[in-house]
Amino acid sequence: MIDLLPPGVALAFAAAFGAVAGSFLNVIIYRLPLDKSVVWPSSACPHCGRELSWYENIPVASWLALGARCRTCRASISARYPFVEALTAVMFAAAWWYYGPGVLLASRLVLGCALIALFAIDLEHHLLPNAITLPGIVVGFVFSFFAEPGWVASLIGAIAGGGVLFGIAEAYYRVRREEGLGMGDVKMLAMVGAFLGWRLALVTLMLASLSGSLVGLLLIVSQRAGMKYALPFGTFIAIGAAVAASVGPALLDWYLRMLQP
Ligand SMILES: [Zn+2]
Repeated sequence: MIDLLPPGVALAFAAAFGAVAGSFLNVIIYRLPLDKSVVWPSSACPHCGRELSWYENIPVASWLALGARCRTCRASISARYPFVEALTAVMFAAAWWYYGPGVLLASRLVLGCALIALFAIDLEHHLLPNAITLPGIVVGFVFSFFAEPGWVASLIGAIAGGGVLFGIAEAYYRVRREEGLGMGDVKMLAMVGAFLGWRLALVTLMLASLSGSLVGLLLIVSQRAGMKYALPFGTFIAIGAAVAASVGPALLDWYLRMLQP
């Protein structure tokens, strides 16, 4: 039935659905690190605690209409809310357009939502909650029986993705005597491996290290942070995995062709 819709309408539906999903991701991003329930109670102003009415809960639009402030206490509302909603909306529309309807689309949307939540939580709290990464590994593995990358590549991906990063974390700790990577990063890359398979998990790790070093270098050059400023690596894993899920196979092809004489 969905094939009968004009492409533009289907895309708009996907984006609207994504905005609503993003609104729920905001609840997870705000409440999970505080150990609050994500299903109860309904959304409230984090500052004065007043419950929000339906028209204050419309993704992006409410934030704009209310001028980024709570209607009662005038406390400013973080731009993270409309940003996450808009990002999730764009992600849903892009994934719909790129993958088309099917199990692979569902798998990639679930991964995308997990990545957005982990990205935001790691950026703010330097934390990658087990409540997302561990179920994520299982869900990614289950999806792999019905869609790419297949269960063998998924299983190897979870083990290799987590294993490689665990090895790096161990080596770093032995050499530097301080923790550079957390177990959260290990579990997050294992989750990415379960969803995308071992090849794209390695692409993810390379992209994450590359973008992480680049941003780290920029921060040092601009003297915004010392050498020891701990950048949350999970945010870069999220960026790397998003790129790997879309252009990863093409990137891998290009790289392997370059290696041939
Ligand atoms: Zn308020």
